[in-house]
Amino acid sequence: MRTLVVEDDLSTRRLVREVLERQGIEVYEACNVEEAMIALGERPADIVILDVTLPCGSGIEILTNLRQAGVASHVIVLSGASNEHDQVRAFELGADDYLVKPFSTRELTARVLAVRRRQRDSETSVLRFDGLEIDLSAARVLVHGRVVELPAKELALLAFLAVRPGHVFSRAQLLRAVWDSDPEWQSEATVTEHISRLRKKLAPGSDGPSVLHTVPGGGYRFDPPLDGAALDHRNEPGAMMFVGGVVVAADDAASELFGAPGPDALVGRHITDLISELVAAGSVDAALQRLALSAEGAEPRSQVLLFTRSEGRDVAVEVTTSPAMWDGRAALRLSLRRAVDESAHIRYLFTGVLSDLADAVIVTDMHDHIRSWNPGAERVYGWGEAEVLGRHINDVVVWAGSDEALTSARAEIEATGHWHGQGRQITRDGFTIAVQTTTNIVRDENGGAMGIVSVNRPVDLAMVASQAEPPAGDVADLRRGIAAGELIVHYQPIVDLAGRFIYAVEALVRWQHPARGLVGPDEFIPIAERCGLIGDIGAFVLEEACRQVGTWRNDGLNLTLAVNLSPKELADPGLVDRLETTASASGFDLHALWLEVTESALVEDVATAREQLHRLTALGVGISIDDFGTGWASLTYLREFPVHLLKIDRSFVRGIQHDTSAAAIASSIISLAAELKLFVVAEGIETEAEAKFLQALGCSIGQGYLFGHPTPAGVVDLSRVRPLLEPDRPVRQPAT
Ligand code: C2E
Ligand code: MG
Ligand code: MG
Repeated sequence: MRTLVVEDDLSTRRLVREVLERQGIEVYEACNVEEAMIALGERPADIVILDVTLPCGSGIEILTNLRQAGVASHVIVLSGASNEHDQVRAFELGADDYLVKPFSTRELTARVLAVRRRQRDSETSVLRFDGLEIDLSAARVLVHGRVVELPAKELALLAFLAVRPGHVFSRAQLLRAVWDSDPEWQSEATVTEHISRLRKKLAPGSDGPSVLHTVPGGGYRFDPPLDGAALDHRNEPGAMMFVGGVVVAADDAASELFGAPGPDALVGRHITDLISELVAAGSVDAALQRLALSAEGAEPRSQVLLFTRSEGRDVAVEVTTSPAMWDGRAALRLSLRRAVDESAHIRYLFTGVLSDLADAVIVTDMHDHIRSWNPGAERVYGWGEAEVLGRHINDVVVWAGSDEALTSARAEIEATGHWHGQGRQITRDGFTIAVQTTTNIVRDENGGAMGIVSVNRPVDLAMVASQAEPPAGDVADLRRGIAAGELIVHYQPIVDLAGRFIYAVEALVRWQHPARGLVGPDEFIPIAERCGLIGDIGAFVLEEACRQVGTWRNDGLNLTLAVNLSPKELADPGLVDRLETTASASGFDLHALWLEVTESALVEDVATAREQLHRLTALGVGISIDDFGTGWASLTYLREFPVHLLKIDRSFVRGIQHDTSAAAIASSIISLAAELKLFVVAEGIETEAEAKFLQALGCSIGQGYLFGHPTPAGVVDLSRVRPLLEPDRPVRQPAT
């Protein structure tokens, strides 16, 4: 079986040759149209793998020449474009199969092996997969040796898809190919119905994965059952095996990636030492936590890590961790692949912080191919990461409703780099869900686009509607309470974890209600935000806290004040003027003020938020991001806004010493803050164990009941206020 690879990129050509040769397939190469035609003239190929874009000419030209000359080779076209127009054109010109770049070598191998299988069985026309046998001439299908009766059309449908494994066909295409009819006069539902019958017949009573996959908005795809070693991703180069944390085997590609002299130099090393030595500074803990986490999962998961090679160069490596066996013992396998695309860096940054969020976090490259798909996305859409990597986002995340809405969102992303809004999408099971979406182009320091990150949070529309108007009675009561001076401010210390000195206090508002007692902000701030009273509350807290902390500072206490700002307040154009007036009235030095904003406050109107934050920082105010890790595409904002401090949400702090997932997130946030030179504060520390653990992760500032509850000004224990002058706040200038 001979395969010609026509591809101008040397590394892709070599990679394809290597994986195919390992399957015993003879491979020869060409890098342009002329070379390909000469090579084919000398030695005909059973399979031609054809890159569409070639220097001086196109793969399409070769395809046309081949078919005109009546050559019957099986042609697999490789192309960077995934739009249907190109696919249809390639098929019309006689291509047999089609792969969108970047493709996985595993998928390519599967398709080549399917052709070989077919050719071997060509006398009897039998397609054989693991547990599934399709005998075309005898019109018979066997599942694990059991005959399954199928009507002619269903057999034809199954055969058509099985001959082209891994390829998506729309219902219209299948109608044309199998029923020989046009969707105009035969309903596409016919196809849906027969696919569903086929599924039941092939795997009766099974909820497990079917060989016939539905691709939302795309159509159907045949995914051959894995037949053992032949399709195992483990056959790809770049692998290391660990037993009890120690390297027991490594291949040449793995040692080459690390810049080690050979596999022997890696064997015997401990994973912790290896990672500490090789992973780019600042991310070691996060990397180890993530590796440990993914090792526990049954599904192999991938992440991008930055490794510093022995000669000092950083390389981005895609690391897939999976449980394995070695000599009868439980082992951990790392599959390593050099990440060469431009989105590798954002995948690296996003690994950890966002990958464990409940929201769907999807990273694509600038050509809209999916590069990262977190467990949240798996839950929301029903697709596994392995099924969607490399695919066009529109094939997988299908928007319901008008095309215009999507087009205008796209236009906005192109013009501004951002989009935030609500829409409806279709999940794998065909359900329509409503989502709140934040999409951003992520840029490098020089402003170059690296990739696109979307965070999609499913929302309950009925709930959103019911929240729109708070009950009139509650509003009137709150308005009365504000006027009657029932609001009070409590202060909670923020301390330096090592010395336990108080560094700052956070002002937290409460409502001393005549009938209900002391009411917490979570009960009335949301109402105030919806009825327009939030401005009054914010102004009161700011004035009161500046006055109080100003008094303490005048008494010689070196205290910083942290005040929460709601999204509505941040959007208020009068904010900066009001702040200046308040500060000058009380003589408060604005360099001693931190304003805490949430990520959602930043995404709603990015341009306004950015302008406001710049005006605030120009006055000397520090900006912190509250509840960090729970919000939207956080990292994007760090680069875009002048931000000084991150507050790790308390949900990642509670029980952190026992919760590997929380620890991984906290540790990623801490490494990230270190890389971006930001302060980081852990919220909600209640126990010594939590404080110690966070300190070990590199977090130096904390807040929580362990150090003090929020209390009225007269009760706050200020005996241990930080005696030193506040260190210079690190200021990051956003990328322009
Ligand atoms: P936040 O800004 O994240 O404030 C921290 C919250 O965590 C406070 O709740 C605090 O009492 C609580 N907390 C602190 N340490 C611990 C701990 O060790 N364990 C636990 N379980 N909780 C701890 P609080 O005071 O109920 O405030 C809730 C939220 O209300 C605040 O979250 C903030 O978003 C908002 N808020 C409070 N005051 C204001 C205000 O003046 N203006 C605005 N816009 N929002 C405010
Ligand atoms: Mg806060
Ligand atoms: Mg918070």
